[in-house]
Amino acid sequence: MENVIIIGSGPAGFTAALYAARADLSPICFEGDIYQGMLPGGQLMTTTEVENYPGYPEGTTGPQMMEEFRAQAARFGARFENKKVTAVDTSSRPFKVTVGSDEVLEAKAIIIATGATAKYLGIESEQTFMNRGVSACATCDGAVPRFRGTPLVVVGGGDTAVEEAIFLTKFASQVHLVHRRDQLRASKVMANRAIKHEKITTEWNTVVEEILGNDQDGVTGVRMKDTQTGETRELACSGYFCAIGHRPNSELFEDVLDLDENGYIKTLPDSSYTRIDGVFACGDVQDHVYRQAITAAGSGCMAAIDMTRWLEEQEA
Ligand code: NDP
Repeated sequence: MENVIIIGSGPAGFTAALYAARADLSPICFEGDIYQGMLPGGQLMTTTEVENYPGYPEGTTGPQMMEEFRAQAARFGARFENKKVTAVDTSSRPFKVTVGSDEVLEAKAIIIATGATAKYLGIESEQTFMNRGVSACATCDGAVPRFRGTPLVVVGGGDTAVEEAIFLTKFASQVHLVHRRDQLRASKVMANRAIKHEKITTEWNTVVEEILGNDQDGVTGVRMKDTQTGETRELACSGYFCAIGHRPNSELFEDVLDLDENGYIKTLPDSSYTRIDGVFACGDVQDHVYRQAITAAGSGCMAAIDMTRWLEEQEA
């Protein structure tokens, strides 16, 4: 019988593991290869420079930071297994967590930290130039030298796209916001801010067909198509930011927990409690607003504290 099983291994999962380990609960964290081949460590494993996480004055890389998070939790007795959780049965306690095809573990509590996955258009050139001009996180990657003083492309029309476009104006010479319709989905205030911004050009009724580039320079431009006329044209840029939304990795819990209309796990206000006693959620699988490593780590800490107090109450 495990005290707590942590599912997921980004900053939220690793921080929950650290706090649970320091509470002497010997947590076990199933960290991996759970989602679309994503490496254990979550979305940060696809990021290069991380310069906005306090405590790293010179910056670090996503993979390096996750290795350090993991090592810190392991130092206090957290256990990690690079295995895939395939089912969770919370109909009675202890909970049953299936790992792989047939290994079933019992746990008093579960912390869900399965994160979210950025959506991409799905064109091959996105993969070809990943981290060489292609990104899905302006906040993570926007400030690197390659994007400074050059035109950049942001795809999408929602709040994320608009926010990313506005953020990128700090570095870019011009940001081209490419949207497939003639109206932004983003909230009015945000949309107006983007439309009025002198450094943002909105490319209406336009889709990106191909990202152009080469081995040496990475991304050098995009080929776009006007959805009304079918006309194609090329636009020079050094960066392509895909901002068409995120998909929370909550499929395992669809029939179990309350999810919002976008699939994010609902937690009780100001806590990590889900609707099932003993099941806690943290990080990007329950946060569609901030989605930063620092906020994910903070909510991982909250989940471990909530879980520890809940276990103490149960055992009292
Ligand atoms: P949304 O789902 O709101 O927007 C996605 C955008 O991407 C839409 O404009 C959509 O176009 C476009 N899109 C989707 N698929 C494709 C595709 N295959 N090709 C081209 N374009 C595509 O996602 P967001 O991440 O922007 O927002 C998610 C939620 O988070 C929203 O509720 C949002 O309000 C919230 N949020 C809030 C923020 C804040 O308050 N500061 C910041 C960021 C997000 P179309 O419009 O045609 O469907």
